[in-house]
Amino acid sequence: MPAEHADVIVVGGGAIGLASAWEVSRRGRSVTVLERFGTGHDWASSAGLERQWRLQYSEEQWSRLALETLPRWHALESAADRRLLHRTGSLWFGRVGLATSEGELHTAATVLGRLGVPYEWLSAAEIESRFGFARLPADHEGFYQRDGGVIDVKGTVAALSQLCAQAGVRVREQERVRAVEPDGEGVTVRTDSGTYRAGTVIVNTGAFANELLAPLGCPLDLHVFRMSSAYFARRAADVDLPTWYAFLAPQQGDGNGSFYGFGHNPWTGSDLVRAASDAERTVKDEDPGAPAVPDGGDLGSAARWVRDHLPGLVPRGVRAGSCLAALPTDPGRQFYLGTLPASVPNGERVVVQSAGWAFKFVPMFGRICADLAVDGRSAHHDPALALA
Ligand SMILES: Cc1cc2nc3c(=O)[nH]c(=O)nc-3n(C[C@H](O)[C@H](O)[C@H](O)COP(=O)(O)OP(=O)(O)OC[C@H]3O[C@@H](n4cnc5c(N)ncnc54)[C@H](O)[C@@H]3O)c2cc1C
Repeated sequence: MPAEHADVIVVGGGAIGLASAWEVSRRGRSVTVLERFGTGHDWASSAGLERQWRLQYSEEQWSRLALETLPRWHALESAADRRLLHRTGSLWFGRVGLATSEGELHTAATVLGRLGVPYEWLSAAEIESRFGFARLPADHEGFYQRDGGVIDVKGTVAALSQLCAQAGVRVREQERVRAVEPDGEGVTVRTDSGTYRAGTVIVNTGAFANELLAPLGCPLDLHVFRMSSAYFARRAADVDLPTWYAFLAPQQGDGNGSFYGFGHNPWTGSDLVRAASDAERTVKDEDPGAPAVPDGGDLGSAARWVRDHLPGLVPRGVRAGSCLAALPTDPGRQFYLGTLPASVPNGERVVVQSAGWAFKFVPMFGRICADLAVDGRSAHHDPALALA
């Protein structure tokens, strides 16, 4: 049987894969998405309900990219006629000088100042009185950035799925890709059930990236892990929080020591708010796509932190879940996005995006992937994103 052909094949139908596919279709090219499970599933990274939207980064280029991404979110919202990004403010506080995978408080505030983005620097007492936290160590400080917020994960995936369907994107579910083989004329994509051909391929498989890249001889340096979180009931309807991240030094058994959470999400109207320990539980040999049980220790430390510092919440976690994530092992790097390195013959035909706290960049990363796949370059492509 002849291989099914598309101008561009996108491997992976998570939020960024769907954004890539939609952007490719907007450039008038035929596009097929191959997804191992089904769109909207909870076994990869675009799982759960909420993601934090923030402008602050310790590196200026990512703050700039977030600022450039904001109009893309609004364009996506208008195209789908659905609100996806809700402004709740973003509160970062804790130990100044502590480096985490989110960055560092003072450096991030300095970047905001340099870019003219407003923020308020607050003492522990001010954070307690304004936002309802309690018993924070007196030397803790931080800042509130009013444009931060929360992104509707399921809404984003649904919006992009709908836009892809309207644009004629073919989405093949339960189609696991086993190999991506670029050659002089295109790319062969082998799945469990057949073979596809495309001019270029975009690999948006997130934490699973190395299953396809290792056989090509160019695995990414990735730390693949799971994180557990739970929801906590508000004691009263007027208890509300901005999205928040507490930069804390590690305690025994408390992961990396930091905690994060959200206010009650505006689109479900639920009385529950999510909070979690920022603890990374490494995925070693098992299939990252296997169902996972949330880590009891991490759920327990989050519940204790809520009990000690968020008196407006009932400190009993419900609806616990776990989510797969990947970060570059190099702490100096945030993301991977680019074509395969020059060492791979015809590697310019394969665009790869993986790793990082990337949900906030969904519309922008989709656009960059599509630019690279269709035009071979993108005005938004920061060289710091490149694979090699
Ligand atoms: C607990 C947690 C909290 C987070 N918080 C934030 C946050 O606050 N802000 C933020 O910006 N980001 C955050 N992130 C990161 C963000 O969720 C991810 O960056 C984003 O969801 C990645 O989307 P993706 O489409 O690249 O990957 P995924 O959603 O993982 O999609 C990859 C897809 O590829 C498919 N796939 C894999 N292998 C194959 C194959 N061989 N063949 C076919 N299909 C395949 C998978 O089934 C999956 O659907 C968080 C992540 C986690 C886990």
